[in-house]
Amino acid sequence: MKYKCPLCDFEINSDKYLEKYISDFNNQEYKLYHCLNCDGEWWEPLKIIPEFYEEEGEIAYDLYHAGIRNIQEWHIPFFKKFFLNQGRLLDIGCGDGVFIKEAQKLGFEVWGIDFDKKSIEVAKNKFGLKNVFPMSLEEFVDLAKEKDLKFDVITFFEVLEHQDKPKEFLEQIKILLKPEGYIVGTVPNRESVFINLYQGKYDKTDLPPHHFLRFSKKVLKNFFEHQGFSVEISDTKSLTEIATLIEIWLFGKYTFNLKKKLREKIYLNKNNKNKLFKNNLIKTLKFFRTLFLIPISLFIYPFIQGAHIYFQGKIK
Ligand SMILES: [Zn+2]
Repeated sequence: MKYKCPLCDFEINSDKYLEKYISDFNNQEYKLYHCLNCDGEWWEPLKIIPEFYEEEGEIAYDLYHAGIRNIQEWHIPFFKKFFLNQGRLLDIGCGDGVFIKEAQKLGFEVWGIDFDKKSIEVAKNKFGLKNVFPMSLEEFVDLAKEKDLKFDVITFFEVLEHQDKPKEFLEQIKILLKPEGYIVGTVPNRESVFINLYQGKYDKTDLPPHHFLRFSKKVLKNFFEHQGFSVEISDTKSLTEIATLIEIWLFGKYTFNLKKKLREKIYLNKNNKNKLFKNNLIKTLKFFRTLFLIPISLFIYPFIQGAHIYFQGKIK
């Protein structure tokens, strides 16, 4: 079987793969391939499964509706590092709109799209966001052409690794972006100890049919360069992230089981009262855990990479 690297089109002729994995979702066997040309990694069969997102949307919807979801850790670098605070911004994969809601506060005119209809309903009803649409990027490009819409900033946090046609994805973005416009976003960092420690063992979110592409900082930078973008790259690393890492290191599956139970009991249980209070209690406990682990965290800080890669840049 011949495969083509989705990032650089390089053809591989052997069936040599890095690892194999059978998904619980569709019982499909996936194999991880490595490109000798660009160092990219991807899973075959490389094909997005739309039904998977519908099922995932159900769970996310409950979380969103619980009213406790906040800005995610991968959004934080945007608020620290991005220099614009006005103009028209489109967020691809906006979910319930938690990010664009904050971007709007800064001064952006915000727009969002997501596959998941229910999340878009939440964005409209709960946050009062108007320009949010349950549609694919291709459909939105058509809408934007009709309305003659162009964007100053296009963000896509934790979206690129889901794509089975990443180059086409960036081509669509170029159509929507003003000539001097910016792209900003994140992907999981395959070089992070954090991801490698728990992936597959306790958590399957960085695997197909969820994620198909695996990036390192270098692979991501080169990919953008080849597609005509120049980007700055950094990784998200924080003391909280390291504290979580140490916790997983020490307690492994126990800490994951506990998190799963809390999620079911507090966030997903519709009859549960005092969700906000319980969520704040968990946050407080997390804070003390991080505080307690600061000495070790500071010690290992220089030697490890963050769990996500952050990028910001523009068309060359
Ligand atoms: Zn390649």
